[in-house]
Amino acid sequence: MTSSEVEKLLREAGAFLQGHFLYASKLHGAVYIEKFRALEDPALTSKICAELISRAPTKQPKAVVGPLTGGALMAFEVARQIGAKAYFTEKIDGKNELRRGFRIEPGQEVWITEDVVNLGGSITDVARCIDQTGGKVTAALILVDRSKGRVTFDFPFIPLLQITDLTEYKPEECPFCKQGLPLVAPGGRKAEPAAKG
Ligand SMILES: [Zn+2]
Repeated sequence: MTSSEVEKLLREAGAFLQGHFLYASKLHGAVYIEKFRALEDPALTSKICAELISRAPTKQPKAVVGPLTGGALMAFEVARQIGAKAYFTEKIDGKNELRRGFRIEPGQEVWITEDVVNLGGSITDVARCIDQTGGKVTAALILVDRSKGRVTFDFPFIPLLQITDLTEYKPEECPFCKQGLPLVAPGGRKAEPAAKG
C-alpha cells in the first residue's frame, strides 16, 4: 500500500476530522485524526496491521506491547497475525506501566504498537517499561506519524502514514480562536475556553 492509498482508506473511514482542535501538544489546528474511526472497524484494523507487519523487520517477536487504548488494540491484532502475545501498558499517575502480570523475559524481543505519534511520549514510556524488564524493542509500528521529525528512537520506527503538512498554531496566534470558533478537545482532553482576539 502506498501512503496515498493508506490516507484514502483513513479518509473513507472518516478518520480525518475538520474543525478547530486542541492537540496533545497544546497547539491548535484545523485537522484531527480520529484513529478510532479506523480502529473501530476490525476488518480495517486487520488490513492496517497486516501492512505494518509487511514493513517490519522479518524477525518477528513473541510479544507486542501497545499503550491503552489505540496502541493496545493494534497490539492485539498485530500479535494475532504473527502468533505472539499481546500486552498493553496503562497510565498510572501519568506514566505508562506494564501491569496485569504481563511478563517480558530478559533479552526477549518486543514490538511496540501505537496509533498516532505527536511528541512520542507514549512510545518513550512504553520503551522504558520494556527496558525495565530487560526486554529489547526491535520495532515500533505506528498508524500515523504526525511528529514532523520532532522525535527519534533507537529502534526502527515504522509509520504507515506520515503527515507533515498539518499547520499548528499557538493558542494566542490561532486564526480560529480569533474567529471565536469553539475549540474541540478530542479524545480524553479538556478544552480551555477559546481566547477572543
Ligand atoms: Zn484556536
